[in-house]
Amino acid sequence: MSSVAAYIDALLAGAPGDLYVDGVWRPASSGDRFVVSDPATGQPICEVADGGTADGSAALDAADRAQEAWAAVPARERSDLLMAAFHLLHENADAFARLITAEMGKSLAEARGEVTYGAEFLRWFAEEAVRVDGRSGVLPSGRLRMLVDQRPVGPCLLITPWNFPLAMATRKIGPALAAGCTAVVKPAELTPLTTLALTKVLEEAGVPAGVVNVVTTADPAAATGHLLADPRLRKLSFTGSTPVGKRLLAAAAEGVLRCSMELGGSAPFIVFEDADLDEAVAGAIAAKTRNIGEACTAANRFLVHESVQEPFVERFAAAMGELVVGSGTAHDTDLGPLIDERSRERVHALVTDAVAQGARAVVGGNLPDGPGHFYPATVLDGVAPDARVVTEEIFGPVAPVQTFADEDEAVRLANSTPYGLVGYVYTRDLDRTLRFVPRLQLGMVGVNTGVVSDPAAPFGGVKESGLGREGGREGIAEYLEHQYVGIVR
Ligand code: NAD
Repeated sequence: MSSVAAYIDALLAGAPGDLYVDGVWRPASSGDRFVVSDPATGQPICEVADGGTADGSAALDAADRAQEAWAAVPARERSDLLMAAFHLLHENADAFARLITAEMGKSLAEARGEVTYGAEFLRWFAEEAVRVDGRSGVLPSGRLRMLVDQRPVGPCLLITPWNFPLAMATRKIGPALAAGCTAVVKPAELTPLTTLALTKVLEEAGVPAGVVNVVTTADPAAATGHLLADPRLRKLSFTGSTPVGKRLLAAAAEGVLRCSMELGGSAPFIVFEDADLDEAVAGAIAAKTRNIGEACTAANRFLVHESVQEPFVERFAAAMGELVVGSGTAHDTDLGPLIDERSRERVHALVTDAVAQGARAVVGGNLPDGPGHFYPATVLDGVAPDARVVTEEIFGPVAPVQTFADEDEAVRLANSTPYGLVGYVYTRDLDRTLRFVPRLQLGMVGVNTGVVSDPAAPFGGVKESGLGREGGREGIAEYLEHQYVGIVR
């Protein structure tokens, strides 16, 4: 058994997780630990180090010390290290899937999908590492020769959410390391174990001490808040909720940090009257129930042309009603548990509020008995325009349906939130696609598909869904600064 798989098995058997600072695994300086639980049972899995202010500082000390040497490592060598990590992740895919399911709840099949998706960011950025280039020329005045070089931004703070504990980490660590930046990584307190196992992979692949430092904590503000004002930190990359993102953005202004913010979403899923309804239903299931609906890309509002509302709702509700709710470890599970009880109560409150305002639960909508934080696939028809279920991010397997009469109304409804991450459009009319899609205030649009995420494409939103892009050719640019050198001729 590989040392990575053995490490994962030990965590799953209850061994404690440590911090990783300057190439050393160690407890928090306070000695404190916090519990990580399985959302399907509510039972503890193990405890991990509860890093505090001193641990955050030690991690930045290490990242800062390692920065210059790491930036000087030839791009080909940095690329080879990332590629080695990509292969190691694949070799340990089953163990990673078990760990993701245990701490996050998604089914083993979805967890395996996340391993493939997450590993792909390491391969993609291994390939991008050797394509960072510059340019040269003579200024139009003729006075100077211009050299434009790209340099790593410097030490980064990478903060990740709980919903894709592997992929959100590789989507940041991959481009940071490829660009020559060192990092302090702070995983979500609900799912820190996958990041620790990924760190084992990076260590085994040969990433030098100090390049990646990981601080697990139950108090993120205490462990990392002071780093945002530390002049050695040069960048913040955050994926999480919009309210927390706004607070961190304000704090990052203190040090004028480069910021990449991947925040919340409220994706419209738009079905025109000419759509292939079977394909639209399949896409709706994918866009709504991927990751138990706990995805920033999850369809949050189903906007259906009034002429096809009835058949769409009927077929969609039938398909949702067939989904199997259960523990992620059961072989037939489609929908694992929600991440915690607070999330489940919030999702149910959104459903209750919509029903109180006149919506009809065509399928689902009931709160099952415990244990575990399960919620059934739910379709709500006739949802009021200001019901909370359409104005807030649901983050659960609940699908509110509203209707529209024409393209103008669809645009108005689609753009009516502060978010602008992604949307989905089902139509067979190419003219309509080309006319309609540019009117959507969205960073990403899927046409006749319910899934757009891919490591080779620029992922990110507009409006309050964020700043910057992850993945694609754009992803590495977030970790690079231009340096212009003017040389007298
Ligand atoms: P969250 O904002 O509660 O937490 C995200 C991360 O921020 C966690 O690691 C948390 O510990 C940390 N954090 C919280 N307060 C902090 C502080 N004061 N200082 C430093 N770190 C702090 O979000 P979540 O509940 O973990 O994730 C769900 C949210 O993430 C949803 O809104 C979802 O849409 C969003 N998300 C967005 C994307 C995207 O790419 N746009 C991807 C996945 C998730």
